[in-house]
Order: sequence, then C-alpha cells, then structure tokens
Amino acid sequence: MKLILLGAPGAGKGTQAEVICEKLSIPAISTGNIIREALKSGTEMGKRAKSYMDEGKLVPDEVVIGIIKDRLAQDDCKNGFILDGFPRTIPQAEALDAMGVVIDRVIDIEVPDDKIVTRMSGRRVCEKCGASYHLLYKKPQEEGVCGKCGGTLVQRKDDHPDTVKERLRVYHEQTEPLKAYYEKQGKLKIVEGQEEVADTTKLTLAAIEA
Ligand code: ADP
Ligand code: ZN
Repeated sequence: MKLILLGAPGAGKGTQAEVICEKLSIPAISTGNIIREALKSGTEMGKRAKSYMDEGKLVPDEVVIGIIKDRLAQDDCKNGFILDGFPRTIPQAEALDAMGVVIDRVIDIEVPDDKIVTRMSGRRVCEKCGASYHLLYKKPQEEGVCGKCGGTLVQRKDDHPDTVKERLRVYHEQTEPLKAYYEKQGKLKIVEGQEEVADTTKLTLAAIEA
C-alpha cells in the first residue's frame, strides 16, 4: 500500500502516520523529520533547509525531491509506505509520478484554520526520535518525556503562533492545489480531523480500505 497523507500543518498527519504505519507494517516517511535530523547532524542539506523552515517557508523542491528519491530507494519501502508531508507542491507531485511511483490512495485530513492555531500551541516533539505528542490530545505517559525512547519533549521553533500563520498561508497557496491534482487521478479521500486521535484513525483506516 502506497499512501500519501495530505493536510495543513498541525492537522495530525504525523500522528496518524505513526499509528497507521504500525497497523499496516509499512514505514512512515516524514520529510519534516528527515530535514530536522539533517539539521541536528549539521549536514549541508540541513544547513540549507534551516532558514526556510524557521520562517515557515517550504524548503526548495529539488532538495526534498532528492530526499524522497533516496528514501524510497531503500529496502523497507518495497512493500509500500506512508508519505507524511510530501508532496507539498505540484512540482513535487509531478516528480513522484515521473519516478514511476504509483500511489494507491491520498488521504486529506481536514481541520479548520482557527482550530489549527490552537492545536499547534500544545504540540510537542521528541528531541531524539521525532515522535509527536500533544498536551491535550496525546499526552505522554510521563510529562516532558518520550514514551518511545525516553528523549526530552520540546516545542518546535516553527510551532510558534507567527510562524504557524505563515505556514498556513503557504499551505493554502502551494499544497492545497494537490487535492484537485489527486482528485483528478481518482485517489483522493477526505477525512474530517477529530478531537480524539483514535477517532481520526478509525476514519482514516476506513478511507484507506474504501
Ligand atoms: P507540519 O506538517 O506540521 O508542517 P513538517 O514536519 O511536515 O511539519 O514540516 C516542517 C517544515 O519542513 C515545513 O514547514 C517545511 O519548511 C519543511 N518541509 C517538510 N516537508 C517539505 C516538503 N515536502 N517540501 C518543502 N518543505 C518541506
Ligand atoms: Zn523519542
């Protein structure tokens, strides 16, 4: 199964990707996490991406397309994968098609903008493994500590309110047109994001199987 999760920043793509990848035994691939990793290890790519990311802008297409090409060539992607945060522009989607990757389904998780801004303020990520948490909707067992690896939970710099507004603007301008792109290919399913993570997961799994 080759899946794409679409949706605004903070709509819950990452959280759903983490749950669904376990259920389907396929890897979840987050370009955001890969870029943050590169940033931490101080690679050239990471350095180049940092300024864009901090300002809530998209990293240039050729950079993320390169990342995805390398990642999809790895062995664990043979039986399928979930793309979380890629593609985010029409040229990225075209590049995926040009690679000969045949996507089975595209799930768009929809959450209204005003809810997104509130949600983002409660979001926390593990500094070490990138797992995502939320102070209200997905509390860690122990406050401030990642239940998966014991790492420290932090707020992402780009989750601050001003940057969130810019990310939403960029989403509507550059990413939302992908809905029409995949609708035309007959692959798009829309899921209304719910308050409870588990409720969204039910709807998402139903949309995958439909
Ligand atoms: P979210 O989905 O919450 O916005 P991500 O972790 O997916 O967060 O992305 C964080 C940032 O990483 C984006 O704002 C952007 O700067 C960069 N990024 C991630 N994926 C892409 C992509 N496909 N194209 C361009 N930039 C990307
Ligand atoms: Zn962790």
